[in-house]
Amino acid sequence: MQTKSNVLAAIGNTPLIRLARASEETGCTILGKAEFLNPGLSVKDRAALSIVQDAEAKGLIRPGGTIVEGTAGNTGIGLALVAAVRGYRTVIVIPETQSAEKKETLRLAGARLVEVPAVPFANPNNYVHAARRLAEKLAATEPAGAFFADQFDNVANRRAHVEHTGPEIFEQTDGAVDGFVCACGTGGTLAGIAEALRAKKPGVTIALSDPDGSALHAYYTTGTLKAEGSSITEGIGQGRVTKNLEGFKPDVSFRIPDTEAVAQVFQLMQEEGLSLGGSSGINVAGAIRLARHLGPGHTIVTILCDGAARYASKLFNPSFLREKGLPTPDWLAADTGGTL
Ligand code: PMP
Repeated sequence: MQTKSNVLAAIGNTPLIRLARASEETGCTILGKAEFLNPGLSVKDRAALSIVQDAEAKGLIRPGGTIVEGTAGNTGIGLALVAAVRGYRTVIVIPETQSAEKKETLRLAGARLVEVPAVPFANPNNYVHAARRLAEKLAATEPAGAFFADQFDNVANRRAHVEHTGPEIFEQTDGAVDGFVCACGTGGTLAGIAEALRAKKPGVTIALSDPDGSALHAYYTTGTLKAEGSSITEGIGQGRVTKNLEGFKPDVSFRIPDTEAVAQVFQLMQEEGLSLGGSSGINVAGAIRLARHLGPGHTIVTILCDGAARYASKLFNPSFLREKGLPTPDWLAADTGGTL
């Protein structure tokens, strides 16, 4: 029998899919790691599983305990799945401005939500600080205690990619991978895969694809954390060097405008049947930039982080796109709402 012992065993080992148009346009082989096929439908299942396993190994979490995290989405969904299987409860502190779709998905995954006002990281009422405080309070009051997952500064996040995603990419390409590129939220994916690939293949080129509004591109190219502009993409962009990014530096960095990312998302949907979220668009646009940087004949890998369904009211909503000054593809603009 070929069975999985539980849903957590279905996390990872995602396929690497050739992206036809990007490959043909650049003369490279551009491959997307299909992380939207994880059980929680995003790359963050890997970090969630690793963070909980690490906490268990260190005795930081007890059976029936509560996992607390400040997150706008994918990590919370991953944590809720892991918690259900491992026998914990999940409390997610979320900025109230997040989409109804995300809040609903978290509730359906079994998480309890605590909504807080959306204020910057520097404000003590920011959702990340609120989550840390709530974890401290629940640790003292809940019978089985509580644990703060802390995805930004908990390096068990990065370790998931050092131990799994990076080696998977090396093996799936038979070691032929010449370049890897992706965006950063916590930085766990990029720094972790970079560490694994650099160990296995000295000379591999690691690139950051950074959205507008993130400070990392400026940091890695000029040494100063400086953010300009904004992006409609979610889950990526960072204003500080998290613990998951400590000790990491990309070989190359690209700043990708939303126009470029959104065009990739729509093209991949229409031409290649890949239904993706905005961060995947930043990543594929970054892979094309890296292909041009390295020249034809190279093998380049990026991450397809999550799927379109989580962004129906934004990235796939013509009036939202118009409001943001972004182009609406014909098939979306022509949607008649069911009447012809
Ligand atoms: N894309 C999406 C949709 C995400 O939710 C995240 C995580 N915030 C990322 C990309 C970035 O991953 P990481 O946190 O590992 O940098």
